[in-house]
Amino acid sequence: MRRVLTAATTALTLTTAGTMLAGTPGQAAPTGWGRPVVSAAPQPGAPGLGDSYFPDYGNGGYDVEHYDVRLRYEPATDLLTGTTTILATATADLSTFNLDFLLDVESVRVNGWAASTSTAGAHELVVTPARTVTRGQQLTIVVRYSGVPSEALVNGYTGWTRTDDGALAVNEPESAWWWFPSNDHPLDKATYDISVSVPTGVEVISNGVQPRPPLAEAGNRSRWIWRTTSPTATYLAFMAIGQYDIVTDTTPSGQPVINAYSTSLGALGPAARASIERTAEIVDWESGIFGPYPFEAQGGVAGPVDGISFALETQTRPVYGPGFWRRGANTYVVTHELAHQWFGDSVSVADWRNIWLNEGFASYAEWLWSEEQGEGTAQEVFDFTYASYPADDEFWQVLPGDPGAARVFDNAVYDRGAMTLHQLRLAVGDDAFFEILPTWTAERRYGNGTIEQFQALSERISGLDLDDLFTTWLFTAGRPDVASAARKAAPPVEPRSWAKIRESHHLMSH
Ligand SMILES: [Zn+2]
Repeated sequence: MRRVLTAATTALTLTTAGTMLAGTPGQAAPTGWGRPVVSAAPQPGAPGLGDSYFPDYGNGGYDVEHYDVRLRYEPATDLLTGTTTILATATADLSTFNLDFLLDVESVRVNGWAASTSTAGAHELVVTPARTVTRGQQLTIVVRYSGVPSEALVNGYTGWTRTDDGALAVNEPESAWWWFPSNDHPLDKATYDISVSVPTGVEVISNGVQPRPPLAEAGNRSRWIWRTTSPTATYLAFMAIGQYDIVTDTTPSGQPVINAYSTSLGALGPAARASIERTAEIVDWESGIFGPYPFEAQGGVAGPVDGISFALETQTRPVYGPGFWRRGANTYVVTHELAHQWFGDSVSVADWRNIWLNEGFASYAEWLWSEEQGEGTAQEVFDFTYASYPADDEFWQVLPGDPGAARVFDNAVYDRGAMTLHQLRLAVGDDAFFEILPTWTAERRYGNGTIEQFQALSERISGLDLDDLFTTWLFTAGRPDVASAARKAAPPVEPRSWAKIRESHHLMSH
């Protein structure tokens, strides 16, 4: 999570672009048998999916099943060239459709026919196919492109991180724009084949499994091949390119574990390993609470010292910035990012306004881990968190259920978000609470959810009206009152987990 372009900076100029490119409105439908075929003229696909925070993220008119992202990268110059093949289905009759993308496009073909393209808005590629697209049609969209992602700026910003020895394509919610054309919203998940040719000696880590070792290519190069067979949101696809030590293993349940450690970590390396190598153990523990692990592989990537400062729950294999290891091993950040595999990755936000469904839950997983580790019960962490923010602190003015586009990763979404789940647990009792969590992940597996749907499920399972609780904790400014547990005369004792939880949240949020 981290670093978001606010809606204001990428605002919609796009309906205009769509209209411009609508072609010949009212063009007669073809007729064959003497009577007119009743058919509306194909329309431009919408330039966004109507997200309440980021209205121009994603696109309308089609649904992607698969991305084949085939790249060539030069660490010395940050030059990225590639061909992405998108398998999609049209959901409307289309005269044009958009992809979200920033690099220079050399050509686009739609079902083999050359298409014309133009750019619009902050990150829109408008594709005009040679033949109109009909609803239900299978589309094979081939985009050839090149560019220097670190120099492809939107309002001065790039989500691509160039490092001394490579690059990281790791960011939320914007990441794909800098390396593959896409329908960039969690509402349109797909599977992925990602392959990258780099100079031999450079490593490339991505999502899912590595079906074969790197293939030698001409010019002393190697092509790394990765495959993701579970539906994946675009922002959860990633690449880490550089100098990495790769550790592979198999879990007791038979899943591949692939971890990677930047060689730049130096003295931070052992703490990174002592944390990330516990991935399979933590996934196993979380599976007992959240339900079956949803994906085909596990792992983690310890990023380089000059890479990202945050961590991101990239699917099957989170990426961690170096700061998490400065005080030694930190299993709290690992617990947090792995909890996202259920809350965020398998069950994704239907709209970015619902970010609490990701960050509140991943943060509460840390509290449960604290209790499991004997470093403070969830109640003790609640009491201390609650007391650590005075009632007049600005913290209490941010609504975790609707923080606003510029505050999607505000600390309140994490800390007050976790407090909300603890209050829910107290209200419904442990039996209902620990039934709600795996029911949510089972019913919405590989899909999307909203806060309102989570509240409805909680009410269904508990039989309680929870409107006051959700309204008070997620949607009302100010510090809520809590019952006696946190109101003892003596200030709460700092749980032993607190320093690492606080430090992790400081790095994750901003
Ligand atoms: Zn998170």
